[in-house]
Amino acid sequence: MNWVSYDFKRQKAGAPGEVLDRITYPCGFCKGTGIPPSKKTGACLVCAGKGTVDVGPLAVVCAYCRGAGTSILNRSLSCAVCRGKGVVQVTGRTISACAACRGGGRSGATRLPCTACRGIGVNMH
Ligand SMILES: [Zn+2]
Ligand SMILES: [Zn+2]
Ligand SMILES: [Zn+2]
Repeated sequence: MNWVSYDFKRQKAGAPGEVLDRITYPCGFCKGTGIPPSKKTGACLVCAGKGTVDVGPLAVVCAYCRGAGTSILNRSLSCAVCRGKGVVQVTGRTISACAACRGGGRSGATRLPCTACRGIGVNMH
């Protein structure tokens, strides 16, 4: 499977099928700064300026935005799949890369979120 999830906190790609079990993650949208990346002032709307988001207890890096938290169509907007957090909650450890998008979370040439996995890149079992 051609599937790479990116764990930006550890600055490395997670293994395929890797389920992250932290509760608190650095906010993907503002990269943990608490400040919106496009404005440079004010509080990040995703994390309310805290710089961290709570997701979980089990989560995977958002495949659609590769954990960046920004919309791939407009970088000043938050990712519609993970709502800007960069990680998406999953319900169990038994997951596999989505066959429809090969784990990329994107629907072919449209660059819209994959409809089979809603953009998270994995299917839960
Ligand atoms: Zn934030
Ligand atoms: Zn995302
Ligand atoms: Zn998919």
